[in-house]
Amino acid sequence: MRRPEDWISPFHDANLHALTGPSGPPDRGGDRAAEPDGEEQRPFWVKAFDVVSLSTLTFLLATATVRLLRVVGDGGPWWVLLPVSALALLAADFLSGLVHWTCDRFFADDTPLIGRMLIHPFREHHRDPLAITRHGLFELGGNNALAVLLPVLAIVLAGPPRGALGSIAVHGFVIVLALAIAATNQFHKWAHAAHRPSAVRWLQRRRLILSPDAHERHHRGDFSHGYCVTTGWLNPVLDAYRVLPRFEAWLRGLASPASPLPVRRSS
Ligand SMILES: [Zn+2]
Ligand SMILES: [Zn+2]
Repeated sequence: MRRPEDWISPFHDANLHALTGPSGPPDRGGDRAAEPDGEEQRPFWVKAFDVVSLSTLTFLLATATVRLLRVVGDGGPWWVLLPVSALALLAADFLSGLVHWTCDRFFADDTPLIGRMLIHPFREHHRDPLAITRHGLFELGGNNALAVLLPVLAIVLAGPPRGALGSIAVHGFVIVLALAIAATNQFHKWAHAAHRPSAVRWLQRRRLILSPDAHERHHRGDFSHGYCVTTGWLNPVLDAYRVLPRFEAWLRGLASPASPLPVRRSS
């Protein structure tokens, strides 16, 4: 039985395991693409949970979007949606990096509650980067849909936006943020996929969604760069200033003042 303090131990870090394990440095797919990815082992309740989460979010987002478009179509200040959408995409990108970093660097596959559903997919992705290309829509979007369900439900329950600038901005921000977060794993999948629709390649070339060459930085080396996987816009800044590694060193220092930095153990 693992103690809670073990869940943040670098001993359980999949990165270190992948780098020091008998199979050597992790590959970027290739030969391992044909291996089973565990989809068959996903319990029925996990699959049902993904379907319910994503379906509910889709219904709520459609309701909120139709209401917003009606107000904007009636002469509301539509222009505010442009800066608000950019802000929401930045926020989604940052949150994707924060969650990715947390799931890469802390906890383990068998951590109670979150291990199977949240941590495992990130660890699997390092061992087999192409497994994500074999995941379906619901598996990719279920967890993220659940994460943004509450704010979208809140704006739906609040009723249609009033014509005021602030109300339209709040509704627009929540809708774009939720859409971007719900689609993040799909963007990530497309960054690994050999075959993508032409519209997706267009979006990737213009850096409007995560591009393969921008994301390659994460899989090159020790997985310590390029954590943001929605648009990847924030990666250059976060990487240049080593924001997340510095934060991690500070956190580990809090958890274990006598040994503030991760210690690589041979296995
Ligand atoms: Zn990762
Ligand atoms: Zn990846």
